[in-house]
Amino acid sequence: MIGTLQVTPTLSGGFLGVLIAVCLITLVLVVLVAIWMYRDAQSRRMDATVWVVLLVLASVFGGLLGLVIVTVIYLVVRGNHPVGGGLPAGFGPYPAAYPPVAPCPVCGGPMVWYPQYQRWYCPPCAQYR
Ligand SMILES: [Zn+2]
Repeated sequence: MIGTLQVTPTLSGGFLGVLIAVCLITLVLVVLVAIWMYRDAQSRRMDATVWVVLLVLASVFGGLLGLVIVTVIYLVVRGNHPVGGGLPAGFGPYPAAYPPVAPCPVCGGPMVWYPQYQRWYCPPCAQYR
């Protein structure tokens, strides 16, 4: 009988301890994932701040589940952003998809680069620059 009475406060104390431990572990995880995500997003020229804010908000409202969900979404989305992506046109990983563009010094219109002539051509002016 005495043993049963003594178990109850020990149990609730243990439960509270576990709850605090889970909260602390979640907090540490959020900080670690946030640091990793920020650096990873920056290396991919992604909006690092938005992702970290999203991660923290999801963790505040969704706890560990929110943290996991945002991390999974991030991992899916970052697949479209290779490391070092988003560099200026002509220096990125897909130079063929984005031909260099420069404004015409005369009319200001977009000029086209002709590699075979090594010259710029302005369609509005119908002239090489
Ligand atoms: Zn022009």
